[in-house]
Parts: sequence; C-alpha cells; structure tokens
Amino acid sequence: MNKILFKNGLVYYHQKLSSLDVLVEGDTIKAIEEKIDEKDAQVIDLKGKLLTHSFIDIHVHLREPGFEYKETVATGSKSALYGGYSHIVAMANTLPCMDNEETIERFEKIVAKDACVHTYTYSAITKGLAGKELVNMEDNLRHQIVAGFSDDGKGVQSDAMMKAAMTKAKALDSIIVAHCEDESELKPGGCIHEGNYAKEHELIGINNESEFKQVARDLDIVRTVHNRYHVCHVSTHQTVDLLRKAKAEGLPVSGEVSPHHLVLTDENIKNCDPNYKMNPPLRSKEDREALIKGLNDGTLSVIATDHAPHSEEEKERHISKAPFGIIGLQHCFPLIYTYVVKTGETTLETVLEAMSAAPAKVLKMPVEFEVGSKADLCVFDLEEKFIIKKEDIVSKASNTPFIGYPCYGKIKYNMIEGKLTEF
Ligand SMILES: [Zn+2]
Repeated sequence: MNKILFKNGLVYYHQKLSSLDVLVEGDTIKAIEEKIDEKDAQVIDLKGKLLTHSFIDIHVHLREPGFEYKETVATGSKSALYGGYSHIVAMANTLPCMDNEETIERFEKIVAKDACVHTYTYSAITKGLAGKELVNMEDNLRHQIVAGFSDDGKGVQSDAMMKAAMTKAKALDSIIVAHCEDESELKPGGCIHEGNYAKEHELIGINNESEFKQVARDLDIVRTVHNRYHVCHVSTHQTVDLLRKAKAEGLPVSGEVSPHHLVLTDENIKNCDPNYKMNPPLRSKEDREALIKGLNDGTLSVIATDHAPHSEEEKERHISKAPFGIIGLQHCFPLIYTYVVKTGETTLETVLEAMSAAPAKVLKMPVEFEVGSKADLCVFDLEEKFIIKKEDIVSKASNTPFIGYPCYGKIKYNMIEGKLTEF
C-alpha cells in the first residue's frame, strides 16, 4: 500500500503543537511519533511547517441546487480543499429548499459525483424557511448526509415554532443550528451595522438587538427543553455574554464566529463597497473584542466561514441593494493566523481547535486526528507570505473584501482520506 511519511512537522496533536513525524498508509494514519523511519515510504520533509487535522466548516453555502451561477458543489468544495478543509456542511437555503427527502437525495447524488471534500448538508427547520410549518425532521434525518437542522438565512420568528423544533430535535438527538435574527428589530434597507459608518454614509443600520434578542429567546427555550443548540455567526458582545452564561449553567449550547467578524469591524468598510456587506454585519470594535474573548475562553468554540458566494453582477449593486454575504473557505486560516494570531490576540492552538475538533464535536461527527483514523490532514507554511489575489480564487465567486490583503500561512498540502493534493 502507498505510504507517505511527513517528517519534521509542527504537528497539532492532543491539543498541543509538537515536533513530530506522521506516517500515512493508504487512507489511514499509521503512526504519529517523535521520530519515524519507514524504508518504503515516500518522504515529505516539512522542515517545521504546520501539520494539523484538515479543517471542518459547519457553515457554508454551496448554492446547489438552484443558484449554480453563484457556486456549485464542485466549485465550493474545491475552494474548501484549497483552504485546508476536509469536511463542510452546507446550509439549506437552496432552490428547491433542502426541506424534503427528494431534494436531499438529489444533493447526495451531486455530492457523490462532484464533491472533493466530505460534504454534508443541514435540513431546513421549517418548510421553505418560511417559519410556518416544521419539515419532517425524522424522515430528513434518516439520510446520513444530514448533519442537523437550520433555517440559516432567516431566524425562526415564532416562539412556538422554535420550541416545537427544539423538542423534536431533542427527541431525535439532533441539533438546531440557529441563524438568530429578530425581524421586529429590522428596518427596511438595513445593510450594515448601526454604527458610525452607517451614520456618516446615511445607510440604514442593523442593530445588535436583532441578533441577541432572538438568542435570548432561544436560550430560554433550551432551559426547558435541554436540547442541543448552536448559534450561527455570533457578532455582538451581548450574544457572547448570553452564551457564556448559558454554558456556565451547563446547557448543551455552543456558538460559532466567522473569520470576517474576527478580523474586521465596521470601521474597516471602504467606499460603501458591498463586499463588506454580510449578515450579521461587521460590528463595532467593542463587539470584535468580545468575540475574540469568547473565542479565547471557549464560549465561541467554533470558527465557521459562512462562505456565501454571489455573482459579480449582484455585488455591483449599491450596498443597500446588493445581497448579503462574502466567500470565506479558501483564505479563512491565513486571515485569522495573520490578523488575530500574529497580533497576539489569540493562540494558534485555539484557532486550530476551533477549526477542526470543536466543530466535529458540536455536530457529533466521528472525526479525530489519531493513529488508526482516516488520513485527513493539511500542511501550512506559517512563514510564507502571500497576497490574496482575485485570479487565485477557485470559488466561482470572488465577493470578498480581502483581495489585496497580505497574509502569512500558505497552504502546501491537503490530504483527504489519504489522497494528497499539493499546492
Ligand atoms: Zn446566517
């Protein structure tokens, strides 16, 4: 069987970074030790480069079926491969909506044919994400490709509907992955954070209440139902406080933070560029600091990109009219490494945990980096500097404010079940 020996890696193993060798045989990790010599293996000398379990992103939009002009399973999973990911979970806001078995089965077939990383999907919570009627959660969950339930893109407005969904999810030992947005707090045309930039440029703002009020509502339901519950793309300091308190009470809750909310605030927005428009929006400096604190103390245990591709034409509209969302898979790690780790605001270990083991744990994915487990691993050169260029983006879309950003941490290899891609 084909053997590959990675020598002299800075390996993230058992939650710490150590100088180790890693031997892969076929699709399996055969050994992780200080020094391995294996005569018949192909040797790759890493010379101190970072080797870690490939990343796991539990919040991406692949746009297929229905919006293939923005992204497909093939192009979205390729951008994941180029970002060092082995596992991604797609959101249900496709067309048709991922709310029924027929659409899920169709997605399974597309994934089997086109995906180059392990690809899952959420089932919607409510039919058509309309918040009016629960999907058949039991039927949808029979498909192994379904990782949980989410109406991402919309908050579930009705308290009774959310309670019914959580009760059913609890009975099925599944998880509610919540996009929290209280629509009674939204003003028509709201496009960026209700802060100074919005005021100065006469744009309609999106307040913090629109997020944290619904998080507070949901956590109160969890207090009675005790179901597994995960908050998507946390952006406000109030949400971090609510989640921290809920975790301290022992509730089975978790939260994720996106790379753009960790790196940017509304002060970074330039020229009312719609590539700075996403939902939830880039918040204040105070919010960003709270997110980093939440990442560091484990309140926000997961980093997820909310990879949201749109066509160039859609993002050329005025910021008040352009769709929400930016792409994120390909450059998530280098951006966070450069603009949050190298600045001393968090540690490399915290980021690696939040991008691999922690998201797997939230979704109870049987994924680990251990002798005997599947060889899903990636290698980054932390010293190598590069600039994010539009022509290097492999997603079908290029809607990101990070083009032109210098980064450290260039991907060198991504191995999915023993299959090696070299960059
Ligand atoms: Zn969302």
